Amino acid sequence: MSVLRDLVDGIRGGGIEVLDLTAPLSEKTPILSLPEPFGQTAPFSMREISRYDDRGPAWYWNNFTTGEHTGTHFDAPVHWVTGRDGEDVSQVAPAKLIAPAVVLDFSAQSAADPDFLLEVDHVKTWEAEHGPLPDGGWLLYRTGWDARAHDQAEFLNADETGPHTPGISPACARYLAEETPIAGIGVETVGTDAGAAHSFDPAFPCHSYLLGAGKYGLTQLRNLDRLPPTGAVVIAGPLPIVGGSGSPVRVLALVER
Ligand code: MN
Repeated sequence: MSVLRDLVDGIRGGGIEVLDLTAPLSEKTPILSLPEPFGQTAPFSMREISRYDDRGPAWYWNNFTTGEHTGTHFDAPVHWVTGRDGEDVSQVAPAKLIAPAVVLDFSAQSAADPDFLLEVDHVKTWEAEHGPLPDGGWLLYRTGWDARAHDQAEFLNADETGPHTPGISPACARYLAEETPIAGIGVETVGTDAGAAHSFDPAFPCHSYLLGAGKYGLTQLRNLDRLPPTGAVVIAGPLPIVGGSGSPVRVLALVER
């Protein structure tokens, strides 16, 4: 018996479905926008080096520019000041990048209230029904926000009071960071924190508590609606940017059918 052979047979035979949780990366990929005087991340852009022409008759290739935190991406602990002594993205152990995942679906609540916040009681109610959050695994937080990812304005949903996108309350972020065994959280929004989290106490609590606890973030995921509440395995492969605070990431999920 070989577990790996069974895995490959399952994937080829259809017993295991491979889902792509990654948003396509292009110049249209929505990015975070910070108010003055903060620095801004770069959008993804691509510049052609040659395409079977005088610049390279037999080959096509490009240079690209991107922020570490552009599109579907991985937040490493060192991204936040609370995690400044923690891992950079190149230091994350590869075995931690393959992990179980659970999905908490609050898309209905988020549709009704774009400022919806996940609270500790929501998580405990979910655990009472589905079991404990996975040790070393991901909490994937479904809000339906992936349906807006084609449009920067819809995705950021900002008005004169700032962005309005669903997130996690400070108390819940602290609970997830300090009292649960998860490796991190994954979200469908542009960052792991709510749009209004600049005004929370502490500001940006998911970043502050989770990265401060050595945990990770995954953002701008999609296809979470196709995952079961429990039982999926997620493979998340950020680039090992030496000293990097994060990286665009391809996120795949394995689901038994
Ligand atoms: Mn980020």
